Amino acid sequence: MSNPEFLASCVNIVGAAYLLSGEADMAPFLTDWRGRFTGAACAVARPGSTAEVAALVRLCQQYQVPMVPQGGNTGLVLGSVPDQRGNALLISLLRLNRIRHIDPINQTITVEAGCLLAQVQQVAEEVQRLFPLSLGSEGSCSIGGNLSTNAGGTAVLRYGNMRELCLGLEVVTAEGEVWDGLRALRKDNTGYDLRDLFIGAEGTLGIISAAVLKLYPQPQYQLTALVALPTVNDALSLFNLAQDNCGATLTGFELMSGLCLRLVQQQFAHLASPFEQAYAQYVLLELSDHEDQAHTQGLLERLMELALERGLISDAVVATSLAQSQRLWQIREHIPLAQAADGKNIKHDIALPLSHIAAFIEETEAALRLAFEGCRLVCFGHIGDGNLHFNVAAPEGGDADAFLQHQSAINRLVYDRVQHYRGSISAEHGIGALKPDELRHYKTALEIELMRKLKRAFDPNGLMNPGKILGLSARD
Ligand code: FAD
Repeated sequence: MSNPEFLASCVNIVGAAYLLSGEADMAPFLTDWRGRFTGAACAVARPGSTAEVAALVRLCQQYQVPMVPQGGNTGLVLGSVPDQRGNALLISLLRLNRIRHIDPINQTITVEAGCLLAQVQQVAEEVQRLFPLSLGSEGSCSIGGNLSTNAGGTAVLRYGNMRELCLGLEVVTAEGEVWDGLRALRKDNTGYDLRDLFIGAEGTLGIISAAVLKLYPQPQYQLTALVALPTVNDALSLFNLAQDNCGATLTGFELMSGLCLRLVQQQFAHLASPFEQAYAQYVLLELSDHEDQAHTQGLLERLMELALERGLISDAVVATSLAQSQRLWQIREHIPLAQAADGKNIKHDIALPLSHIAAFIEETEAALRLAFEGCRLVCFGHIGDGNLHFNVAAPEGGDADAFLQHQSAINRLVYDRVQHYRGSISAEHGIGALKPDELRHYKTALEIELMRKLKRAFDPNGLMNPGKILGLSARD
């Protein structure tokens, strides 16, 4: 369903080369990263400046055309693809890819929303600084997408989520005005925090066009270790011990169950476990130090000694080269790929208070096994942040497609226990079009009503990424 007058006006704004309306040209933008869903759009616009984004948004308001902002399209909850009605304009931000400014004294970098995360990391490195956000998708995901999903990753423990890494924003509002909030301040208590509303809004309140991000000193030395442990409780005790003994030097603390390592080994023979025997749990631990190698090694040795004395760990390997460290991280990063190769599964990206993680895993796994005999729990995650990927797979050799029919019942079982411990049903991936029903199920009526009021205030016509988060269509 496309209005020729509307499309001609889009061409006037972005130029013919950057308005795609042919099926083949639009195809890569319309299917989500996992290939689970393909939507439809009247066109894909690729603006090259904030002014062009604003002009497109005003045009969409004039013609009442829904808009779907998209960055790298690596999101995992169907937030960046339109529904199948075919009336939306998909606005790809990837041509807004300029580094606008680096301020070495203020330790900030001002970048446009379409810059890829890896590009920003690289530019920071060139000026001997660190931009610490780090995700498996960093070669493809964009800063605008990272902000809109409040992305996490492997260094949240030390540096925080994207929200903590951002000082200011430039946003095209749903009405097509440009809000210049590109302030580079670490303290600014001047009323409601608009920046924090747009961060994590998944493109439902406006389109982020640029941001001021924090930079950090680069660590002098990094040390990675893989530790084997008997139980999740031991992993949590080790985490507390590491915090006490290593302080801010502790930058990574990832839990992986024995099954995770077994799956990686089965699917990727070159990533075999470095241990001779199998253990129940593993922790990948990283220290990043601003002092020298001897200092970092001293910290790790002391930590291992204490952990052994207290019976927390069964075995450990320490990477002695960059290549070894990368290999240990590859084991961690290949878990989702190994799981995908093993077959379809039911994923949960959840957060819990650290104090309840062990009880949650034990109780929920027992309940799952009772209800769905033989099901396998693939549990790993950024345990230092209380974030677990709690995925449930079919029994070994079982029919994965048939098992997926239990998805609703399994989600209810898992999320009810998450709710019991006052956790979150989406720790880092967001809600998108995948979880609005779950959001309504688990948030209180008051929370949902306050969110609806915000949405109406920012986007009265409901044209900004309809169907996402609250599940409202353009007419609701
Ligand atoms: P997209 O997927 O294009 O969009 C995501 C959402 O943001 C959509 O709702 C979209 O409408 C909106 N959006 C995009 N750009 C803008 C903009 N400029 N203004 C307004 N709204 C916008 N996520 C984590 O948090 N931690 C991880 O460790 C992690 N690991 C991953 C590993 C892999 C292999 C993959 C494929 C994904 C992973 N993700 C992870 C998920 C994903 O990469 C992040 O959500 C990422 O931040 C999305 O960025 P993107 O540019 O691809 O956004």
